[in-house]
Formats: sequence, structure tokens, C-alpha cells
Amino acid sequence: MRVGTGYDSHRFAEGRPLVLGGVTIPDHAGLSGHSDGDAVAHAVIDAILGAAAAGNVGSHFPPSDDTWKDADSIELLRQAVRILESRDLRVGNVDVTVICETPKIGPHVDAMRACLAEALRIPGTHVSVKGKTNERMGWIGSGEGVAVHAVALVESAADPLGGRSRAGGGSGGAWPL
Ligand code: MG
Repeated sequence: MRVGTGYDSHRFAEGRPLVLGGVTIPDHAGLSGHSDGDAVAHAVIDAILGAAAAGNVGSHFPPSDDTWKDADSIELLRQAVRILESRDLRVGNVDVTVICETPKIGPHVDAMRACLAEALRIPGTHVSVKGKTNERMGWIGSGEGVAVHAVALVESAADPLGGRSRAGGGSGGAWPL
């Protein structure tokens, strides 16, 4: 079992659609960026690649490469999952925190979870997305942009128990589950 973390931030930019976790959120400024600016997808990519010690979003999809201009970041996430699969790894679960003053994230959480889960090839019950404000402090609080933290568990695809075998043995072991 391996764990990785990811972080991303993007500045709001008028005239672009706002896409977070693969979900287009209406009536709000979008995010600047070479791709679609989906900071949720980018943080999750960094978390799963980090768990695999396989680089990050910038090393696999560099902004200097026009291939990724205005790219659908959920497709980049699918490609990152394929990188893991090439190393006999698969995602166990991910947990994401989105920090911004606006828009409200809560109404879009379930749609983001479904979109991320499809790309990660795991059940929606293994994907968590949580929204927070920054209590109006600093650059997030003034509405300049959004920050996203993500944590991912990655397991060996070769393990028939999905990496969830009990370290302490049978019942009464050190890790009762
Ligand atoms: Mg990014």
C-alpha cells in the first residue's frame, strides 16, 4: 500500500468555463491555465502519481507542449491511471479538499465524485470531495482563486486482496478491520 499527496492552485479568469473535478459549474469565472484549469483533477493526478513515485502532472503533461492546450483534465487523469496500471498499481481511494470562497462546492460534490471515480476506475464510494472556504483570509479569501489538496492510496494490482490484507493476521490481530 502506498500513499501520495497532491496540491494545485489556479487563479480565476473571466471568460472561461469553470471546470472542477470534471464538472462544469455555471455562472462563475473559470480558472486560468494551459489546460482547462481543473485544479481538482490536477491535484488528484499529482496524488496518484506521487503515490507511485511516477512524477507529477507537469512532468507528464508539460504546459510547453501544445498537445495539452485547453485539454480536458479528466482525460489527463485517465492517462495517469494508465501510467499506474503499467506499473501494476491501482488506486484504492482518494480524498480531496477544495478551498475557495465561491462558488459553493457542496452542490457539485456528488457529480465530481462520480466523474473522478469513472476516470480512476474505482467506485464512487472510494472518492471523497469536500469544500471549504478560507474564512476570507489571504488570496483565497479575497477570491483570487482556488486551492485543492488531495490524498490518494495506491495498491498493488497483483494483490488479490487489493492490498487490504490484514497485517496482524486473523481476528484479534493488530489491525482489526
Ligand atoms: Mg493545475
